[in-house]
Amino acid sequence: MEHTDLQQERAVEIARDIWWVGCYLTEDSFQCHVYLIKNGNNSVLIDPGSKLTFNETLKKIESIIPFEKIRYFICHHQDPDITGAFTIIDSMVSRDDAVILSHWRTNALLKHYGLRIPLKCVEEMNWNLDLGEKKLEFVFTPYLHFAGAFVTFIESEGVLFSSDIFGGFTEGFNLFVEEISYFESIKLFHEHYMPSREILRHSLNKFKKLDLKLIAPQHGSIIPTQFIEDIISQLEGLECGIFLETKDSTDIFRLSKINRIITAFFKNILLKLNFEDIIKCLEKDIAEIFPVESIDFFLKDNTGNLLTNGIRTYYGKKLHGLKNKDIEFIGRKKRDWEIVYGGWWLIHSDRTIVIPLFTSEYGILYGYSIFTLKEKVNVGKDLSDMMKDIAIPLGIAFERELILRRAENESSRYYEQAIKDNLTGLHTRHFMEEAMQSVLKSHDRNPETNVAAIIFDIDHFKRVNDNYGHHTGDSVLKIVAGVILHNIRTEDVDVRLGGEEFAVFIVDRDKGVARKIAERVCKEIEDYKFSIPLDNISITISGGIAYRQKDEDLSSFLDRADQAMYESKDSGRNRITVYS
Ligand code: GH3
Ligand code: MG
Ligand code: MG
Repeated sequence: MEHTDLQQERAVEIARDIWWVGCYLTEDSFQCHVYLIKNGNNSVLIDPGSKLTFNETLKKIESIIPFEKIRYFICHHQDPDITGAFTIIDSMVSRDDAVILSHWRTNALLKHYGLRIPLKCVEEMNWNLDLGEKKLEFVFTPYLHFAGAFVTFIESEGVLFSSDIFGGFTEGFNLFVEEISYFESIKLFHEHYMPSREILRHSLNKFKKLDLKLIAPQHGSIIPTQFIEDIISQLEGLECGIFLETKDSTDIFRLSKINRIITAFFKNILLKLNFEDIIKCLEKDIAEIFPVESIDFFLKDNTGNLLTNGIRTYYGKKLHGLKNKDIEFIGRKKRDWEIVYGGWWLIHSDRTIVIPLFTSEYGILYGYSIFTLKEKVNVGKDLSDMMKDIAIPLGIAFERELILRRAENESSRYYEQAIKDNLTGLHTRHFMEEAMQSVLKSHDRNPETNVAAIIFDIDHFKRVNDNYGHHTGDSVLKIVAGVILHNIRTEDVDVRLGGEEFAVFIVDRDKGVARKIAERVCKEIEDYKFSIPLDNISITISGGIAYRQKDEDLSSFLDRADQAMYESKDSGRNRITVYS
């Protein structure tokens, strides 16, 4: 192609003052790109290239600026197709301020060329180089098959000199990407030279934060703006790395899968409240590496409660329907179990694996996870390693789950305490004020419905305390509260207003109902056979009822019921009065 020939022979300005000065080698799948930033006496050469190509590159440089104008030589990593030219460069450079910029891990290797040009570390330069109008930012992208790899970005032009990332593996040569199908050559290179998807993503995530207009890799083709987003997203999903050639059998492959399972598992714990849902997702994910049919969990919290995702049948009768106490039982009776590599147990057949879960702090056994498998598995070190990798994070996650559940239980207990009176079990004033807000609002919307308040007060209660002591007084209070509760529905609101005064709100029932309830309570107390000795004192109560008027606030509503109750007191006690 003539277009291509032209590109081979001449330097090409790919952005303002940024020149491609690379070279095409026949039958070389790494097409070597060298870039020149023209910047007067402080010009920059990026990844100078190989010994095989440098003469060609030098001609192109000299067609733009005299070689002596180059002060900075950036070296993104240590490969010979980038650094080979340094021995030639070293003999050409005469200026004293010339310097090779690289990561310390690269410099430690470059040192062995025995160059005169000094080596400088980019991390000592705070990862940037100020060229006046152009500012270079160095971005650390370790493990581009080298732990010291980095790339260079020029914000003013939006150009990323990406070194091996985005590099292609091609037979032919095209300076610029012209079709998205070019991704195939990027894919091929990354599959073979990138250590893992996670490591590649680490770099891609950094690039996504940059305003990229042009990606200039060290080999392959230069990527114009319109292809950038698509290529990045395809790379993100690429399965790559050294394990590809030995699928399934290496540690890295296993670990990255386990890692994914554990990450998904933690996410599920955060997102799903239901324990069974969490386990179902885990079963699905683990099936990727293991022929699991089901996973059961039996976890015991510090109060001895069992958290489980259901009872299933196991091999061997003793495991049928695990109970709380069986957790200890399993732990003791090791005769039925084969301990494999000290980390996990295999029971009865090769189809059931039990993972004991220990607390992270004291290593106390607090539960088991039982994996039932679809088929027999080979017991070997691989399996054992895998189970250990899974057991530890699972254990931590479940322990955390138990702690959270315990905290939830406690907070609901505190809430109960705040809304329920300790002695009588009736609701507190605090609760009444909150609960009645919505009742009153709804009554204002539907004023034709009835909202009644009954106030009860025990008659001459002081005498009980005075004659029989506070303790007996307390028993009487409990009994009266019990009688009240017994006569109302759960949707009615019961309250201990304080001392020996109680209230009940009857919401949305027929007008006569409140009076009937109040009179029944009154009568039942009068007739109550107290088992505590209360010679010659009979316990009675007086009550008052008010019906709420539209827009009336709670205190005046209660006040009217209270006035009615005092009328009952004044007219002889042990009776009910309705406010009029
Ligand atoms: P009246 O018929 O006019 O209501 O007379 P009374 O004696 O019931 O009324 P008063 O308000 O004079 O006395 C209420 C007593 O209730 C005083 C107080 O010691 C007692 N009391 C309040 N709270 C408790 C409690 O929690 N336990 C016990 N045992 N007594 C309580
Ligand atoms: Mg009283
Ligand atoms: Mg009173």
